Amino acid sequence: MSLVAVGSMAFDAIETPFGKTDKILGGAATYISLAASYFVKPVKAISVVGYDFGDANIGMLKAHGVDMEGVQVKKDEKSFFWSGRYHTDMNSRDTLVTELNVLATFDPQVPDSYQDCEYLLLGNLSPDVQRQVIERMENRPRLIALDTMNFWMDIALDSLYATLKLIDVLIINDEEARQLSGEYSLLKAAKVIMAMGPQYLVIKKGEHGALLFNGGEVFSAPGLPLEEVFDPTGAGDTFAGGFIGHLAKSGDISFTNMKRAVIYGSAMASYCVEKFGPEKLQSLKYEDIDSRVEEFVRLAHFELEF
Ligand code: AMP
Repeated sequence: MSLVAVGSMAFDAIETPFGKTDKILGGAATYISLAASYFVKPVKAISVVGYDFGDANIGMLKAHGVDMEGVQVKKDEKSFFWSGRYHTDMNSRDTLVTELNVLATFDPQVPDSYQDCEYLLLGNLSPDVQRQVIERMENRPRLIALDTMNFWMDIALDSLYATLKLIDVLIINDEEARQLSGEYSLLKAAKVIMAMGPQYLVIKKGEHGALLFNGGEVFSAPGLPLEEVFDPTGAGDTFAGGFIGHLAKSGDISFTNMKRAVIYGSAMASYCVEKFGPEKLQSLKYEDIDSRVEEFVRLAHFELEF
């Protein structure tokens, strides 16, 4: 197994009904790599940061088993910055600021030591950049998963279509699935989206769980009711990191095992939202993950005799 994770490494400023942060560590690849590092090490990251990212953040990621060889540091530019404000229900948010900075000219490099990649997770970035990474791999990875967002559907739809043809698993939320397919029913949306390329589709529904589709099959993972939800930022990326981390660790990409991967992804995301930013992801224990997965199993289990 060899896992490569691509995406932003950034600073975020977040407002939720429970509080507000100044610039804190963020970025899709940060959340993905930290989450996946609980399943496989190293997680080989591809990203770009500026002079302001800091040795402490790089050191923290390395200490979690994240290989930073594919992360470019631009000495004269600032890191990507994103700021968002969550609504009272925390299921939706407004983007307040997006400063692309180093991401505006990101030319992703795949180091030689990453060329053994079997599992590739393309975090939310321009679909052109996501496709470049696939094209720069000497051999096609065994499994390519991709996360995207409405922003790219609005401004780069044709490029997104071209990239979707090259991947195996698409991971998006319900609103994005509706926008991409033009269908309200998630069942109809899934058929339309799988016809665009990906054989597997995960539709995340925030606190209401997630659906996994493959051909005519559907699996529904519950949302775990939580007492503490402070900040949903990065929950989607953390889900994706746990999902691909479990697949890479087990080496099994069957639909049956993908159902388990959805539960592992959901368990990791449920921890992520309990603190601001990626803080909680830096201090989990392996037994925490197992105990949360057991909660999912208990929550969804019932018996019925016909
Ligand atoms: P999520 O809450 O899972 O959608 O991910 C939030 C993370 O995505 C934040 O840490 C942001 O830094 C990052 N992010 C937000 N917008 C973009 C974008 N357009 N491109 C890349 N990363 C982004």
